[in-house]
Amino acid sequence: ENVETKIITELIRDNLQLVAHALRHGDVVAIPTETVYGLGANGLDTDAMDKIYAAKGRPSDNPLILHVPNVESIKPLVKEIPETAKTLIKAFWPGPLTITLPKSDLVPDRATGGLARVALRCPDHDVCRNILELAGVPIAAPSANISGRPSPTTAQSVYDDMNGRIPYIVDAGICTIGVESTVVEVRDDGVTILRPGGITKEMLEQVVDNVSYDPFLSSQNEAPKAPGMKYKHYAPNAPMRAFIGNSKDVAEAFNNVIREQESKRGAFLVSQETYELLKDSVHGEFHVYGHSGDAVALAHDFYKTLHHFNECDVDYILAEGVENTGLGVAVMNRMEKACAGHIIYL
Ligand code: AMP
Ligand code: MG
Repeated sequence: ENVETKIITELIRDNLQLVAHALRHGDVVAIPTETVYGLGANGLDTDAMDKIYAAKGRPSDNPLILHVPNVESIKPLVKEIPETAKTLIKAFWPGPLTITLPKSDLVPDRATGGLARVALRCPDHDVCRNILELAGVPIAAPSANISGRPSPTTAQSVYDDMNGRIPYIVDAGICTIGVESTVVEVRDDGVTILRPGGITKEMLEQVVDNVSYDPFLSSQNEAPKAPGMKYKHYAPNAPMRAFIGNSKDVAEAFNNVIREQESKRGAFLVSQETYELLKDSVHGEFHVYGHSGDAVALAHDFYKTLHHFNECDVDYILAEGVENTGLGVAVMNRMEKACAGHIIYL
């Protein structure tokens, strides 16, 4: 069944009331956040959440993050809030940190994929928090893309995937961070990062002891603690490869591939410095994200650029990555998946 998808650009109270009402009554609405656009539905309503899985084609064992407008709102959703969780909430909410906590009976199994913990986040985005407040229920919201494709950071990218599938998209411009939230599990003696994201390990270490990554993130031999991490993700239409190194080495690696690809149409996601080395000799679709090594700039532009390269209908994509520190860990986790593992450290 095809619904007409309306993009709401005028963010006046009446319009936000309209989408909050739709959410409360079981519709799916795409909403902006500081990380990526989310596909929202009432997180206490199993039928509403079923519509999210249908619209995305999301595997049913991949649980949802519940979004709340303030700390108070999580109390009915959890059994307890350990001290470490309180510390994290105080330091990083509102913001791109998702915390899993033992769920109360109020939270349907549909939200958690049957897990005993529920994932919770308070977004640092005024329009989003307004909608959450007006809705008056926790809003389950995974990224607003078809499963497996790049996440959306603009309303247009949401529209490209969701047109005909959902009634409303709330357009608040491009997302400031550009990669998803960090998902953490709080243990008695520390914090485990299940998915790297907008809040870095270094930032967590400023406020709590014993921060470690889920072993799955480095070895992939074990099952991930966040079920979604095992799935293929973020794939652009064209095959993609990534290189990490200094600009001279990256430009040389690009040139080698470009020569092999002969007359095929390439797209290149690069730093300013690497662009300077390639621009006079290489033809193709370029996107320059910022200075070499700037993970914040790369995060901001990453998904937007993959969507743009899809629009341009290119034959292959080459990307210049950044080091695996700070926000670079989150970006390179996405880039590696977008490249299906074709990533080379020079
Ligand atoms: P997305 O909604 O696309 O941003 O993905 C949400 C991520 O959080 C996925 O990797 C999920 O598997 C993970 N997640 C959600 N809820 C839980 C939970 N209760 N326990 C562990 N991971 C979770
Ligand atoms: Mg997603």
